[in-house]
Amino acid sequence: MAGETGRCSSPGCTEPPIMVLRGTGERLCARHFTASVEGRVRQTVEERKMVQDGDVVVVGLSGGKDSTVLLHILSRILRDRPVRVVAVTVDEGIAGYREETVQTARAITAACGVEHVIVSFEDYCGSTLDELVRERPEHPCTICGVLRRRLLQNAARDLGATRLATGHCLDDEVQSALMNILNGDVRRIVRTGVPDAGAFVPRVKPLRDIPEKEVTLYGIVQGIYTPLPECPYAGEALRSDVRHLLSTLEYRHPGTMERTMAGYDRLRERVGGCVEGGEVSYCPECGEPSTGGLCRACELLGSLADR
Ligand code: SF4
Repeated sequence: MAGETGRCSSPGCTEPPIMVLRGTGERLCARHFTASVEGRVRQTVEERKMVQDGDVVVVGLSGGKDSTVLLHILSRILRDRPVRVVAVTVDEGIAGYREETVQTARAITAACGVEHVIVSFEDYCGSTLDELVRERPEHPCTICGVLRRRLLQNAARDLGATRLATGHCLDDEVQSALMNILNGDVRRIVRTGVPDAGAFVPRVKPLRDIPEKEVTLYGIVQGIYTPLPECPYAGEALRSDVRHLLSTLEYRHPGTMERTMAGYDRLRERVGGCVEGGEVSYCPECGEPSTGGLCRACELLGSLADR
């Protein structure tokens, strides 16, 4: 048995394993682990029709490990297809954090030969996130999330994108699912689309089935993983507590994340599509799509200006 466990499970391979896949129990060497991750991402992209020939895919590239791995894999699996890939980095203006990740983003786009666009909170609204948070210290991640989504959507639309790909992995998706439940946010729990797809560039998450551990290991194996500082605001988010809780559950009850995600997907299938329905409206302030009245970004910036 010692001989068997010391070898990669792939037929004929004698290389030592570097990872045991939780779902199948396969023990894979670096080469077969790489092929496995890329194969599963390709399968997700194809089965869910995330990318079609002729698409312009904007990849939201923070420079962190997940989006770096996403860009690396997409540039490989889409290499031979008539698809244009462009990376967009949003610089929120977080001192001591974002500078390094922007450098990483520059390096990975250069290595992958992918066009790279950088947009910033400062250019969009005249203030960095650090400055905005000084006005409203209680919700850094809310401000950050609303403005980052806006800037990514705007950049994607300006680039003529037909898809906006983000680096959310399995752990992120399960965390979001649990946060929606903990927040009692029924609209988000059952939402599977946007009210008017024409108003927003549709988002896709090709890493949604890959556990974070595997994303990290893939990055290390490919030599594209750079340990980076954590965002100074991260500890204040509910997500941080949910991440900790889920890691403990996954450790004590392996498979918890996959089962939770599968159940959540089934729930959304049962509900059957976008429950928001109706026409999208447009913000009277900036003209961008909104779900009614002022958009979240204008609402937020307005409330900050009033202080
Ligand atoms: Fe933005 Fe919060 Fe993430 Fe920091 S932790 S990058 S503030 S969402």
